[in-house]
Amino acid sequence: DPRLQAISEAIRVIPDFPKQGIMFQDITTLLLNHKAFKDTVDIFVDRYRDMEISVVAGIEARGFMFGPSIALAIGAKFVPLRKPRKLPGDVISEAYVLEYGTDCLEMHVNAVQPGERAVVIDDLVATGGTLSAAIRLLERMGAEVVECACVIGLPEVKGHSRLNGKPLYILVEPR
Ligand code: IMP
Repeated sequence: DPRLQAISEAIRVIPDFPKQGIMFQDITTLLLNHKAFKDTVDIFVDRYRDMEISVVAGIEARGFMFGPSIALAIGAKFVPLRKPRKLPGDVISEAYVLEYGTDCLEMHVNAVQPGERAVVIDDLVATGGTLSAAIRLLERMGAEVVECACVIGLPEVKGHSRLNGKPLYILVEPR
């Protein structure tokens, strides 16, 4: 896809953020570039519009920057998956492992109904731990996770479906 090169180039790489040795992939510069931002959303929309998806679940915070646009365009609802103690209603929680310690994602219990077909959106997948927690949340509510989608995927996860057996769709690799 000829659009992918420009999408990749619109992502800024910031060395040593948030700490020494990390090459941070900054998608805020992609959001500043109308063509690259629109192409990113359009690629996901074209992929999911005819897959009978009724739920787009976005992971806080950068999944919120792509998910709602995709949801509106394909006629699905948007469900935020948030860090602990942010959602005001009844929630279910799933912990996941980080490099140091654990974190947690929460979802409102009545946000999805059993049998709904969902895609999970985030900006970047590294180990897949965050997406795996998202998959577990949706499956606990009886939803079917059709695919996980990220703008950026590390080469070792690209094309690799080890996220609880769910397919992973990636646009670009880190630069
Ligand atoms: P994983 O759980 O190891 O796959 O890490 C993915 C999570 O870490 C996602 O929620 C990303 O937003 C975040 N993340 C890790 N590295 C980066 C980065 O370089 N840029 C933006 N987000 C990152």
